[in-house]
Amino acid sequence: MKVLVAEKCGFCPGVRAAINLAQKTLTDDDRVYSLGHIIHNEDMVNQLSEAGLSTVESIETIDSGTVLIRSHGATLAELDQIREKGLKIVDATCVLVKRVQKIARQLNDEGYEVVMIGDEGHPEVKAVVGSTDNMKVVGTPEDLDKLNLSKKLGVICQTTESPDHFADMVAAISRKGFSEIKIINTLCRETMDRQTAAVKLCRQVDVMFVLGGLRSANTRKLAELCKKHNHQTYHLQNWAELDKNCLSGKAMAGVTAGASTPDDVVAEFVRNLESFEPA
Ligand code: SF4
Repeated sequence: MKVLVAEKCGFCPGVRAAINLAQKTLTDDDRVYSLGHIIHNEDMVNQLSEAGLSTVESIETIDSGTVLIRSHGATLAELDQIREKGLKIVDATCVLVKRVQKIARQLNDEGYEVVMIGDEGHPEVKAVVGSTDNMKVVGTPEDLDKLNLSKKLGVICQTTESPDHFADMVAAISRKGFSEIKIINTLCRETMDRQTAAVKLCRQVDVMFVLGGLRSANTRKLAELCKKHNHQTYHLQNWAELDKNCLSGKAMAGVTAGASTPDDVVAEFVRNLESFEPA
């Protein structure tokens, strides 16, 4: 079948750098730990695990060796705890996430109540919240009720949010009546480019595939956006998960992939799809 691949998709520079750093660290040290999955992609996590990377949920469980900080970053408390235990730190936090952490601290120092638009359960958001004092996270306009209207507000955003959601939330904030609002756009350009390319492509095809981890925020956002424009959108991790029945009667497929989806997963999916003859 005919297959078109999004102009921009797959690994972003932040994830690629984190994986390169993990691979290098694994050649330098035989006890390397990642605090939580290094990226939200099972294939890549399994590959690095086979190379010796241990994923742990708590620093308590590490006695010696190197702790790799994933691209989502870590909180100040976690970094302190790692240092106190005398463990070595290799920091693979994406530079764009570090920028968000720095902006949050600056806004806090300037006396703003800092608010992050995003998903409070996401590791990047947790790391930003844990990098400064008194931060709040808002995900929906209803969450704005928990903000103190008498404070001046500093607004930032999870890097992988969609520009539309950011704009909707900023509009809702501006209707609340704060006397001063400072908004810093902390969206990731790489994520925005992937979303634009995915929406453009899904409008041209009969069926759209979004490849990537089911826990990956940026992949889920890609799938949500594509579903809005093409109901025949499927979010899956790899070729093995594809139910071929969804290809029936389709002539043209589109493929995109989240920022943490390895190139070989995308290449294998496209190759197999191209040689598939739907019923
Ligand atoms: S999606 Fe953007 S912010 Fe997240 S790791 Fe990649 S480059 Fe960095």
